[in-house]
Amino acid sequence: MSSNKIEVGILGATGMVGQQFINFLQDHPWFEIAWLGASDRSAGKKYREATYWRLDGVMPANVADLMVNECKPGNAPKLVFSAMDASVATEIERAFAEAGHFVVSNSRNHRMEPDVPLLVPEINAGHLKVLDRQAARGWKGRIITNPNCSTVVLTMALAPLKPFGIRKVMVTTMQALSGAGHPGHPAYDANANVIPFIRNEEPKMESETQKILGELIDGNFVPHPMKVSASCNRVPVLDGHTETIAVEFDEKPSREAILSAFRSFRGVPQERNLPSAPPCPVIYMEEEDRPQPRRDVNRFHGMAVFVGRLRECPVLHWKFLALGHNTVRGAAGAAVLNAELLRAEGWLD
Ligand code: NAP
Repeated sequence: MSSNKIEVGILGATGMVGQQFINFLQDHPWFEIAWLGASDRSAGKKYREATYWRLDGVMPANVADLMVNECKPGNAPKLVFSAMDASVATEIERAFAEAGHFVVSNSRNHRMEPDVPLLVPEINAGHLKVLDRQAARGWKGRIITNPNCSTVVLTMALAPLKPFGIRKVMVTTMQALSGAGHPGHPAYDANANVIPFIRNEEPKMESETQKILGELIDGNFVPHPMKVSASCNRVPVLDGHTETIAVEFDEKPSREAILSAFRSFRGVPQERNLPSAPPCPVIYMEEEDRPQPRRDVNRFHGMAVFVGRLRECPVLHWKFLALGHNTVRGAAGAAVLNAELLRAEGWLD
């Protein structure tokens, strides 16, 4: 490689999230794609022969002729992003960590383990400290995870409100088709329809939210005590998960206090000026009919979460809407931001 950027690999590079990684890492100031991995269906082929480019524009030239490898540690770079099918991620990610790689994963497999950080760097950058505990597994490397794509939207919208004492959360999602990977749902089922079931999504949203907004005390995760009730739906939107959220607090805050909390919310990525950090991670939109996935999801490179329609709730205290890009802020962009935090904290030296 010509530059002195850090070389990175992508496990599951041919899939929906894998392609977002490739897209997101174009011209990254710190990282450079040097290695691609996928299943044995793709291994041994050039990337352009192994997959069809499904994002806007054409396949980036810097990856088109790269050879796709089997997902085995060995000649991969120290830092690997993982976007593998969850059915295979447990063993493969562990093998890479054992062999000394830093695996920055999107998959659900290791998220809830007691020594694995489930990071949203604006919210819980301090949870990275738990990485020390992974040495006890005898690993030379580490595994770091980001949350499920619907959880990240919810937690980013809730984090500014945490100081008010969150007690109960009711959330209903309208999730994009790209969240189901490719080919995902058949067109006949997805078009002009709502599919009111996404396997395992609701329990993931409930438990991951408690872990992310919880505390790390003496090296142990203490989940946030809030109760979360999630209902998840697939809708005919290409990119962007929209969520209606109602919240009960210890004491009902004023409308002005909530708006001010959204607007002033910043985290470690903004303080440290990490390359992929949006300047304002949570953006409140005043318009009565926004945010909308088609109009808002790609703003700020897909890394901000948009909130709007704050109203009093006759059942809980307040209700509002949130929107985030599921394959960027909810997947590839989230993992790249996690890797930037790792580097900023000296873990990649
Ligand atoms: P996808 O489009 O189905 O892609 C799956 C990837 O896994 C492909 O690159 C595939 O390679 C690879 N793979 C399959 N079997 C493998 C094996 N035995 N060994 C190595 N690689 C294998 O799925 P996706 O939507 O990108 O999701 C990838 C992961 O990210 C999943 O764990 C998913 O839950 C998670 N995630 C997805 C989203 C989202 O919005 N889509 C958001 C957050 C997290 P081949 O092409 O060679 O089969």
